Amino acid sequence: MKKELIKMESTSHHEESVELNNPLEEFQETLKEAISYLNYPKEVFEFLKKPMRFLEVSIPVKMDDGTTQIFQGYRAQHNDATGPTKGGIRFHPDVTAEEVKALAGWMSLKCGITDLPYGGAKGGIVCEPRNMSLSELQRLSRGYVRAVSQIVGPTKDIPAPDMYTNSQIMAWMLDEYDHIREFDSPGFITGKPLVLGGSEGRETATSKGVLYTIQLVSEIKNIPITGMRVIIQGFGNVGSYLAEYLHELGAKVVGVSDALGALYDPQGLDIPYLMENRDSFGVVTTLYNDTISNQELLEKECDILIPAAIGGVITRENAEHLQCQIVIEAANGPTSKEAIQILDKKGVMVVPDILANSGGVIVSYFEWCQNNQGYYWPAALVDERLKEKMTESFLNIVHTADKFGTNLKVAAYIQGIRKIVEACRLRGWFE
Ligand code: GLU
Repeated sequence: MKKELIKMESTSHHEESVELNNPLEEFQETLKEAISYLNYPKEVFEFLKKPMRFLEVSIPVKMDDGTTQIFQGYRAQHNDATGPTKGGIRFHPDVTAEEVKALAGWMSLKCGITDLPYGGAKGGIVCEPRNMSLSELQRLSRGYVRAVSQIVGPTKDIPAPDMYTNSQIMAWMLDEYDHIREFDSPGFITGKPLVLGGSEGRETATSKGVLYTIQLVSEIKNIPITGMRVIIQGFGNVGSYLAEYLHELGAKVVGVSDALGALYDPQGLDIPYLMENRDSFGVVTTLYNDTISNQELLEKECDILIPAAIGGVITRENAEHLQCQIVIEAANGPTSKEAIQILDKKGVMVVPDILANSGGVIVSYFEWCQNNQGYYWPAALVDERLKEKMTESFLNIVHTADKFGTNLKVAAYIQGIRKIVEACRLRGWFE
């Protein structure tokens, strides 16, 4: 049976065509810019511009109709100087080697700025999970683990959910890994179901982290959350919970979108209704006749615009037309470097992805600590520590931006790079 739906950790799949920038080039350009503020030898850029290890795998999967399909998969480990590498696995038809490499680099920076004892990694499989049955997804997930098992592990490289993967997929992957290793290793993967050693608060961690970021920005910019007009692109794991939290705090969520289109109402959308009636891939636009496109939504007037879907959506072409005061990058890589320059000139503050969406990996770290200890924390403690880490990282980046006279994006890179380079130097990898 096709299309058995399960709830995915994800931003929603975007079907309208957008011209995507090459994410690896985006990563490398900002990396180069940030390094130029630091007095580092040129080997630093040469080393950090791509992952230190990259594995490409072919995964044969028996499909329900009896045929065998070969799926392409990747795992990139960007840098392991600060500890084992860490990062999610995405299932998406648009996954490319270059995207996975860029995402692994962003994970290194994310772990650096939030002071986690990890380097960055990322995995991906080119597939269309919306057209696969649960049993096909299970065989694909297990096949991926068999293919990468030699380079992953609780003290080597720890996967997690990402776009279109979820706690069920983590559970299958854990089970396969445990069979290969012949012992129970819950710390091999994070984002697991609670009963298999998952953490309280992991499911909502990314959106909570974005919320804490918005609360800090609202203080700095003096825009109270009550009445704040918000547009969220994507109604998946990140966008949907975030919309709910903001709505509960009195913000006016005037726009949301999914893979098929967008909803916009200047009076504010009925978020509880959308939460109740969204499908497992975060689709809500089918509930209404009156929809607009994702591109149109991005250009509508609001206080805070939150791209929480795929990368590359705010570009040189549309940046000039945005009508918001602040962009919070909840997705990975939603704003191109050129777009950020345009927004800087317009006086629009852009809170970078590697800070804004780091709540997911922060709580993954808490989950891994709990697995290592075999002692589990209550939800309130997870929340309190998440807020503490988000606040500390945010304030450090604002301070770095002031000190170097850069925007928050470059400041976040500077902050992350310094941590990685310090660890590399202490290990004797560079002077
Ligand atoms: N996929 C998430 C991210 O991009 C979480 C990674 C993790 O928890 O390791 O940050």
